[in-house]
Amino acid sequence: MEGLVSFSMESAFMPHGHCYYWEPFILWSHAISDSIIAIAYFVIPLSLIRIVKARNDFKYMWMLILFAIFILGCGATHVMDVINIWEPFYRTDSVIRIITALASIGTALLLIFITPRLIMIPSAEQWKQLNEELLSLNESLESQVNERTAALQESGATFKFLTDTIPQIVWTAKSNGELDYYNDNWYSYTGLNKEESLASGWQKVIHFQDLQNVVNIWNHSVETGVKFQTEFRMRNAQDGSYRWHLGRALAMKDKQGNISKWFGTATDMHDQKQKSEELKRVNHELDNFVYTASHDLKAPVTNLEGLMNLIESRTPASCTDELHPLYFMMNKQIDKLKLIIHDLADVGRIEKDATEAFEKIEIRKIIDDFIVTHQEAIAKKEASIHTDLKPDHLYFSPIHLRSILYNLLDNAIKYSHPSMEPKVLIATELQDEYWVLKVSDNGIGIPEEYHDKIFEMFKRFNRYADGTGMGLYIVKRIVEKYQGEVSVVSETGKGATFVIKIPNTVVMHASE
Ligand code: ADP
Repeated sequence: MEGLVSFSMESAFMPHGHCYYWEPFILWSHAISDSIIAIAYFVIPLSLIRIVKARNDFKYMWMLILFAIFILGCGATHVMDVINIWEPFYRTDSVIRIITALASIGTALLLIFITPRLIMIPSAEQWKQLNEELLSLNESLESQVNERTAALQESGATFKFLTDTIPQIVWTAKSNGELDYYNDNWYSYTGLNKEESLASGWQKVIHFQDLQNVVNIWNHSVETGVKFQTEFRMRNAQDGSYRWHLGRALAMKDKQGNISKWFGTATDMHDQKQKSEELKRVNHELDNFVYTASHDLKAPVTNLEGLMNLIESRTPASCTDELHPLYFMMNKQIDKLKLIIHDLADVGRIEKDATEAFEKIEIRKIIDDFIVTHQEAIAKKEASIHTDLKPDHLYFSPIHLRSILYNLLDNAIKYSHPSMEPKVLIATELQDEYWVLKVSDNGIGIPEEYHDKIFEMFKRFNRYADGTGMGLYIVKRIVEKYQGEVSVVSETGKGATFVIKIPNTVVMHASE
């Protein structure tokens, strides 16, 4: 024992072996058991360190570290117990014991604190159960996904079949405007393959003169979600000819109003387009003829009127009574002729006036002008004119809007009910994609069988008021010129409402 290192500052104490009277059994049983306990204590932290290293997902690592310190401390106290049997290093022993005590009380308190959380950590059995639940959830999810995929495949096949059975070209596009599907008609018409088609192939088959316009309208639709609609020529792979198509597309939107998909069609309208071009040409020639004829007729009618006045002034007084009714009738016919020439000139001018630039027009202003110019007729019939203008303006040709309103208002006062003061209401509103103008009166009304005919040239169904039968024809021609439509709602004796609808895109600014 003397061979053991002795520390001079501790030498005043007696070694612990004295307490055992150096009896070998007690001495060695203490020394050996304390050594084994110490070794065990030193080994435990090694396992804890392994756990710390291996399980970096364990939330309470600091707890394990504290445990390690505390156990190391315990081990050290047992080592000191062995040393103290022969060498009394009691001060060193005290320091180690204090550190161990602090570490153990700290660990114990913290253990109390985190025990509830440790209890919450699922046991291995629970983990196993959770894992099984997760596996079965996964399986059911997988089978749902499979079912859903099968349903989607089936609906995809149905959609393809459906789009292949209709005569039009059908396509779809992603919300960003990238085209991602074409039906068979597309491939047989354009001769493009799938790869070429999906790589913006449509831009290669649209006529170069129409392409920029189509791109602009499509980009605008993709940005705003508004309906895409335009006409363009598209190359037919069979003979290289370009045929006119009407392209249309609507955006499918989710509950939040975001575009999820575009569905579009291209309909061959080549024959109709050619017919309508031909009709336009004929109409144009007719308009020119009508305009020239009305212009050329003006001078002879004015001369006729002058001659009539001359004859009237030179008629001997003795014949005046006899001839006066005849002069009166002839003058009336000349007035009628002048009215017809005036209306014919209006018809002939429809196309010419269309070249006039669109302006922002306050509708009220035209109504006020009408009231001023038709003061006499309004006062005579004690007519009242009311308005409900929402919106109160539009962008249009001023001459054309004036012509529409003047003709409708003129009729509303002219065809008033014999026992009622005329009440006219002019209303405007925005309805979906249309700007709508309604002119209603409480006049004699129009029998249903005439609702279509009244818009034809020279068709009149009332002889109580003067007219040429051209007013409503002019209105219809103007409205149709701007892709609009006109209709009437009326019953005999119950007044009439003329409804004019013109696409918003024509008469309203996109910013409004
Ligand atoms: P005009 O008034 O010169 O006869 P229009 O083309 O303006 O010609 O009208 C055609 C016909 O439609 C009229 O002759 C009349 O029979 C009928 N009509 C037009 N507007 C009205 C109206 N507001 N109320 C009743 N009938 C009308």
